[in-house]
This record gives sequence, C-alpha cells and structure tokens, in this order.
Amino acid sequence: MSFYVRRKDREITDLEELRQVLKTTKYISIAICRNNEPYLISLSHGYDEAKNCLYFHCAPEGKKLVYLKANNSVWGQALLDFGVTEECDYAYTSVHFSGRMSLIEDLAEKQHGLEVLVRQVSLNPEAKLAKITPERLEKTTMGRIDIDYMSGKKHQSPKSRV
Ligand SMILES: Cc1cc2nc3c(=O)[nH]c(=O)nc-3n(C[C@H](O)[C@H](O)[C@H](O)COP(=O)(O)OP(=O)(O)OC[C@H]3O[C@@H](n4cnc5c(N)ncnc54)[C@H](O)[C@@H]3O)c2cc1C
Repeated sequence: MSFYVRRKDREITDLEELRQVLKTTKYISIAICRNNEPYLISLSHGYDEAKNCLYFHCAPEGKKLVYLKANNSVWGQALLDFGVTEECDYAYTSVHFSGRMSLIEDLAEKQHGLEVLVRQVSLNPEAKLAKITPERLEKTTMGRIDIDYMSGKKHQSPKSRV
C-alpha cells in the first residue's frame, strides 16, 4: 500500500525546502523495530546534502544499536516547531524520511561525518573540531542514515524560517 500527504495544501514538494529542514534542525527522531517491538530515539544530526545522508554519533553500545544490528531500516522526522498560533492551531514544518542506518568504520568518513555534525549543531564548531585527535576519532562511534525517501508538510510556518 502506498501513502501520500493527504493535505495537498500543506505538502512540501520542493526538494530544496525539504533539505533546508534537515540542514537547519538540530536533531531527528527515528523509529526502529526489532522482533515486532518498536523503539524511538532522538539523535543530534548533521545533514550531508551531496550524499543525502545524516551523520550522528553515539555510545558504542545500548538498545538502539542492538535494534539496528537486527534491522537497519529507520523512519524518521525532523521538526521545526513554531508552537500554538493565535487561532489555536499548531504551527510546524516537518520532514519525514526513511532510510538505512549503518555504523562508519572508515576514519576519513568519520572525520567528515563529525565535521558535518558539529558544524550543524554547534555554535562554536571550529573550536570543537580543533580538539578532535585521530585517537579520539578512533574511539568515537559514528553512524550514517542513507535517505531513500522524504516527504514534507507545513502548517502556518513562517516562510522566512524555512
Ligand atoms: C534532543 C536529543 C538529542 C539527542 N542526541 C543524541 C545523540 O546525538 N547521540 C546519542 O547517542 N543520543 C542522543 N540522545 C539520546 C538518545 O535519544 C538516547 O537516549 C540515547 O542514545 C540512548 O539510547 P540507547 O538505546 O542506547 O539507550 P539505552 O540506555 O540502552 O536504552 C535502554 C532503555 O532506556 C530508556 N531510554 C533510553 N533513552 C531514553 C531517553 N532519551 N529518555 C527516556 N528513556 C530512555 C528506554 O526505556 C530504553 O528501553 C538525544 C536525545 C535528545 C532528546
């Protein structure tokens, strides 16, 4: 069965607008599933437009990695939250995406992913990146979500913010 955004008046179809949401938000929430048991986590992310992927870092162990090793399919959301409007509607711009998650072993890609991530989420990225040594990078667990689908929806979001 295929689904689509039913409210065409709220749908975002412009690819650049969808990408802007992934580029300007600080975190994503992703749904994962193992043995028919759902799980949800939020992750700070950096969006690489050229590769259409999201980079994140995490602890080397934990429930999400157990789930992801069993099933690396993810469904995620990035959200710009504008709160309740005067009309008591909820104003937002959001992007849904699906993709495959994998952990990164290659040091050069880890460095690249960390740069993309830190530049997106940090107010002072260069100072933070200067502290990264090859030894620290080796110990850092980095992952990537390769995006294969995106949809977007907005409701009364200020156009200047997206
Ligand atoms: C805005 C935001 C950004 C985040 N960014 C990152 C990031 O970049 N990298 C990262 O690794 N994590 C990040 N986190 C935390 C992340 O959502 C998980 O809590 C964390 O990664 C641990 O996941 P786990 O499955 O390994 O935890 P585990 O400790 O293995 O999970 C075991 C159990 O702990 C409980 N649990 C786990 N996490 C939470 C939680 N957040 N709140 C309540 N209960 C919980 C659940 O019941 C779960 O079944 C972020 C969270 C938020 C809210």
